[in-house]
Amino acid sequence: FLPHLVASVEQVDQTYIMIKPDGVQRGLVGEIISRFEKKGFKLTGLKLFQCPKELAEEHYKDLQSKPFFPKLIEYITSGPVVCMAWEGIGVVASARKLIGATNPLEADPGTIRGDLAVQTGRNVVHGSDSPENGIREIGLWFEDGEVCEWTPVQEPWLKE
Ligand code: UDP
Ligand code: MG
Repeated sequence: FLPHLVASVEQVDQTYIMIKPDGVQRGLVGEIISRFEKKGFKLTGLKLFQCPKELAEEHYKDLQSKPFFPKLIEYITSGPVVCMAWEGIGVVASARKLIGATNPLEADPGTIRGDLAVQTGRNVVHGSDSPENGIREIGLWFEDGEVCEWTPVQEPWLKE
């Protein structure tokens, strides 16, 4: 029995999920939210938002030196995005699986990008890549009071 391993598997995490401007423009907001909702994760923050350039640059600061960075910032600020915070056991890794590979042509069928997109530069959705970044990004995109603590009625039917 390895309690530290069990603890890490059962860890309740937070992730920042964002529907990018192409997802909003293509009318995929409901479809994308549904996938996280049906899986059983808890929505704790949600807003439509026109992102300022400075925020996009801060969010993607690790990619600053990449050749595609200017186009990425242009893309993310080209129209409103849907900002979401989701909570759940292993939600960061699980959301990355639901989203699929960065290049939609390599993303498995059944994933959001695999089903709904064709190009890396128009891959409809963002998901945090670690629990630390989940917390960092939620702090970046949401103001105090915009993230809600609540208990879904389905909880006892979702977790034993
Ligand atoms: N991106 C791009 N060209 C590339 C790699 C990435 O336009 O060659 C964009 C794409 O929108 C991607 C985002 O930059 O989703 C962030 O890249 P990352 O490697 O973090 O991929 P993700 O975590 O979104 O799968
Ligand atoms: Mg990333």
